[in-house]
Formats: sequence, C-alpha cells, structure tokens
Amino acid sequence: MPRPPSAAALADLQAVVGAAGCLTDAAAVAPFLADHRRLYRGATPLVLLPKNTGEASRLLAICHRELCAVVPHGGNTGYCGGATPDSSGTQIVLALQRMQRIRSIDRMNLSLIAEAGCTLSAVQEAAQQADRLFPLSLGSEGTAQIGGVLSTNAGGTAVLRYGMARDLVFGLEAVLADGRVLSVLKALRKDNTGYDIKSLLIGAEGTLGIITAANLKLFPQPQDAATALAGVDSPAAALALLQRLRDATGDMLTGFELMPRFAVEITALQIAGVANPLALSAAWFVLVELAGPGEDLNLRTRLEATLAAAHEAEVITDATVAMSMTQAEAMWKLRESIPEAQTRRGASLKHDVSVPVSLVPELIQRGGELIARLAPLGDMIAYGHMGDGNLHFNASLKVGAAVAEFRRCAPVLEQAMFDLVESLGGSISAEHGIGQLKAAEFARRADPVEIALMHALKRTLDPRGILNPGKVLLSGP
Ligand SMILES: Cc1cc2nc3c(=O)[nH]c(=O)nc-3n(C[C@H](O)[C@H](O)[C@H](O)COP(=O)(O)OP(=O)(O)OC[C@H]3O[C@@H](n4cnc5c(N)ncnc54)[C@H](O)[C@@H]3O)c2cc1C
Repeated sequence: MPRPPSAAALADLQAVVGAAGCLTDAAAVAPFLADHRRLYRGATPLVLLPKNTGEASRLLAICHRELCAVVPHGGNTGYCGGATPDSSGTQIVLALQRMQRIRSIDRMNLSLIAEAGCTLSAVQEAAQQADRLFPLSLGSEGTAQIGGVLSTNAGGTAVLRYGMARDLVFGLEAVLADGRVLSVLKALRKDNTGYDIKSLLIGAEGTLGIITAANLKLFPQPQDAATALAGVDSPAAALALLQRLRDATGDMLTGFELMPRFAVEITALQIAGVANPLALSAAWFVLVELAGPGEDLNLRTRLEATLAAAHEAEVITDATVAMSMTQAEAMWKLRESIPEAQTRRGASLKHDVSVPVSLVPELIQRGGELIARLAPLGDMIAYGHMGDGNLHFNASLKVGAAVAEFRRCAPVLEQAMFDLVESLGGSISAEHGIGQLKAAEFARRADPVEIALMHALKRTLDPRGILNPGKVLLSGP
C-alpha cells in the first residue's frame, strides 16, 4: 500500500528533475488538481515534469522504493477523473507535458515516433507536413496528449475507418512501476513474438505503467473528401442510410455522426461559426464524411448520388452537401460543439455507452423512455458516433428546472441506463474509460474472471500498487 512521501523522498524526487521540472507553488499546482468536468478535486505535495524518459525512470524508481503513489497526467481532458489525485494530499502528480518531441517520421513505412507529451494536434500536423495522415481526431485534440489519448484508448470521429487509438500503435516506450523502461518501439506490421504487452498498457489509464513515447501508424493523406448533413425522421432511418453508404462506398466512409434536432438547435443558437441545417425538416441529422487517397474518386459526386437515391427511397428527408472546405469545417464544428453548447445550457447527466450498431435505434427508443420516466426535468440529447454504435446518451436540464432535483435523479438513471445497455450486449464505457468515475460500477458489472485477471496483471506489473491507485480497479484482490 502506498504511504505519504517523507520529506527525504520529496527531496530525492526534486533532485532528479531540478527546479524547472517541479511545481509546488499553490497557483502553479492548481490546474493539476481538478478534472476537466470539475467532478473531482484532489491535492498533491508535488507536480513532477520529467523532460525525458531517463528522468521519468529515475522518478518511478524512487516512488517504488518509497511507496509513493503516482498519478500520471496528460492534457487533463479525460472525462472520468483518471488524471486527478485523491484528496489525501499524498499522491504525486507526474505530468508529461515537457516531453513533446517528434522523434522521427518514416514516410515509406508510414510511421512516426512521438513523445507522450505531444498534443494530438501536434502529431496530426507533423504527419501532415510529411504528406501523411494520423487519423485519430477528437474535439479535445488541441490539448489532449498522446500519452493520455493512448492511456484512455480514445476513439473519436474516424473510428469507423481507422479504428480506436490501440489500432493506431506499432510500438510503445513506457516506464514501469519500478522504474524499468519497456522499449518496444519497433514499427512492424507483422510481429508474432509472444504476448502483446504494449496493448495492455494502452487503455490502462496509467495503472500499469507511464507511457513516454509511441510509434504511431500513419496513412496516405486523403486527396479527396466529401461531407454532408442529411436529415432523417428516425434513428432507424439513419441506420438504413449507414447501410446504403457502406454498400456504396466501402471503407471510404470515415465519419457517420448522429445528432438529434434539439442538440443542433441549442448548438446553432449558442455557438458561432457552426453549420445550421435547421432549414431541413428533420427530427435527426447525420453528419457523413467520405475520404479516399485518389484525386479522381469524385467523392462528392458519389456522395450526392447515394444521398439522392436515399432520398428517392424516402430514407432521408433532405440533405446538404458541403461545396467547400469551409462549409465542411462548419459541419464538423456543429458536431464538435455539442458538448460546449450543452455545458452553456446548464447541467447534464452523461453516459458514454455503446451497443451493436444494429441496436442503436432500440437504445435510443428505450433510453429516451428512461429519461422521460426517471429524469423528467431533462431533455434527451443522444448523439455521437453512430457508425461505431457509440452514443453520448445525455439528459440536459430543461430551462428553469431545479438543478438539485435533476441531479438527484442521476444514480437511478445511470443504473437503469447501464442495465439497458447490458441487456443489449453493450458497454458502459465506450471510449472515455473508467477512471474513478466508473470504477465501482465496473467492479460490480464486469465478468468476475476478467476482473480477477486484471487484478493479477496489476499485481505483476505494479506489485506495490503505486500507479494511479483507485482508478480503473478498486483496491483489493
Ligand atoms: C471536448 C472533448 C471532446 C472529447 N472527445 C472525445 C472523443 O471523441 N473520443 C474519445 O475517446 N474521447 C474524447 N474525449 C475524452 C478523451 O478521453 C480525452 O480527450 C483524451 O483521450 C485524454 O487525453 P489527455 O492527455 O487529456 O489525458 P488526461 O485526461 O490527462 O488523462 C487521462 C488518463 O490517462 C492517464 N495518462 C495520461 N497520460 C499518461 C501517460 N503518459 N502514461 C500513462 N497514463 C497516462 C491519466 O492518469 C488518466 O488516467 C473528449 C474530451 C473533451 C474535453
């Protein structure tokens, strides 16, 4: 069990990084003590900012020896409180923000080595400068860091075509709990040598090791793209449109995002520069994107033809196809701004869930009934990555309604929502992870054998339990 760090241990840690790599001043430390959603607030004696893997390794070796708990910290955009220390004031925060070198790019091999503190947008830009694509894309990409993105196995808007973060990694460098450095940075498309250790660290939310660098998969830069907003009467119609687009365009379908009219209304009203499709008569909107490597794919023409056929078959009510990059960006801005519009509007009860894609309409129908029955002061805002079966299934407080009464509904609604998701063969955390937010619920609902295996792995990789205690797994065997 970790224990409070002694003055001597703190001095040893500070000596490794020097004054430039250590924050103790209350104002400087404050941003590391609360999570993005302000659900958690903690305390720490020290924020450590190693500038390279060697320093991170020496810090971990000291923490291991001294039994100091360590909380890894990236861009702090996670939704589950994973990067926030507890309130004991004894857990040390280790932030990777000074490790932001792009170590190398191999255009021919389509690979790039980035340090953990690079923001996701810095990696995207480095790839673009080499005329390559790093396809992971999230609303928080300007702030989220590669270490955090991999540690949460983030998803985002291009999973349909390119997969989750785990699918985009060739190799990793990580510091283990005792300070040893795991260095498996090879960029091999084929490598069947033993267990896939790197995949364990991806999605482990800092509980099995500190990621310091990654070798990431790149793709040819798309030369052609087409974006549209289509109106549909129901989620079932959106599903039919997804099927048509898949049949017509195969893996050139890179984005398929569902938005209810209500979400579009509050976003178009509150946020500047977003597309406004409200002139289309529709209860739901779908943001569709096609992208491909060849210049002569005529994707806009193909998208228009597929949408016209869907209109003819009464699958969609109407559609608008972007005629310029600016219009396409405004369409994406509409989708990406929904969380901000929801925050500006007031309190929300949020669930990040997934079900098999074919069951999304049933999830929306039955989930909507749950909100109406169990949180009647809220309006349903179920939106997001429909092409992946992943919705952000939220209730947003009605204007003027009592916030405290609304929040009291949260536990009952969450239980009912998770029961529903489970009954549909889904997941209670599609892409945001477990952190501290869902650790108890995960322990209660996961397969007991799976949980026992996770604890066994944790004991092997972090026998003293110093890495991000209380996150993902509740303590105990
Ligand atoms: C506006 C917005 C939009 C978002 N959209 C999406 C989306 O579409 N899809 C999606 O999946 N997520 C989304 N997210 C949440 C998403 O999980 C994060 O944005 C991102 O993946 C976390 O990166 P971060 O660097 O901020 O990590 P942090 O929040 O700092 O940390 C997240 C977890 O990783 C651990 N960690 C951080 N760095 C390391 C490291 N180097 N080694 C080991 N562990 C580490 C932390 O301890 C913590 O447990 C969104 C968030 C916001 C605010």
